[in-house]
Amino acid sequence: MILPLLKGLILIIKRFFNPNAVVTQQYPEERPKLPSRFRGLPELQIGKDGRERCIACGLCAKVCPSKCITVEGATDKTTQRRYPEVYELDAFRCIFCGFCEEACPVRAVILRDTFELSTYQNKDIFDKKQLLDLTRKRKISF
Ligand code: SF4
Ligand code: SF4
Repeated sequence: MILPLLKGLILIIKRFFNPNAVVTQQYPEERPKLPSRFRGLPELQIGKDGRERCIACGLCAKVCPSKCITVEGATDKTTQRRYPEVYELDAFRCIFCGFCEEACPVRAVILRDTFELSTYQNKDIFDKKQLLDLTRKRKISF
């Protein structure tokens, strides 16, 4: 009981004698150090062939508790490969639970460290291209 009070008091006294000490992170100039297990916006992953890894199975949309993922699949006529013709994620509704990442059978969606999601619009829907571009910027493919 007394110890936390003393610790707080010592901190205040230290700050009092060192007014230049910065206690507030100077965001956005100073970038925050995120924990390694931080869960940001779900991002679509890219395969070695440069295309989306997603096979449009729809499992992520099924498990999403916020129902914020829309997937509409199609089949590539030449390769017979399934792909998402439409993949949309409503960032306003996402609660960053990570269920979509867990459910995906091909690791096509991963929550990385994208957290700056503010917008001037009254909706924040990321389409397939935007979700893939986040990964392209990182130059990750597997
Ligand atoms: S992180 Fe959770 S809420 Fe967000 S899209 Fe994935 S399953 Fe839905
Ligand atoms: S991201 Fe994964 S779970 Fe979601 S539709 Fe694509 S392959 Fe299926």
